[in-house]
Amino acid sequence: MSRLRGVGRSRTRKPANVSKRLARSYVCGHCRSEVRGVRRDEHGIDHIDIAHDAECPVLRGAVPDEGDVYRAAARAGISAMDVRVRDGGAE
Ligand SMILES: [Zn+2]
Repeated sequence: MSRLRGVGRSRTRKPANVSKRLARSYVCGHCRSEVRGVRRDEHGIDHIDIAHDAECPVLRGAVPDEGDVYRAAARAGISAMDVRVRDGGAE
């Protein structure tokens, strides 16, 4: 008896890029914002653009979002990472 495997339509494929996997899994714990995209700069560093609501305390820098980042990493299956978090309030 042969066993048919899914042809991939119902299964989503994991992006190979760690930043894209992290971006896909990230949700702000305060405003439930989504990610606009991932941009790689001229130094090869990926930047994840998060569309926080205008009133979001994370965007203002009043609340750190490290917890959300680590939860996203866990959901994405990222066990080790080097992430520099820059929120909207800190430059
Ligand atoms: Zn937010």
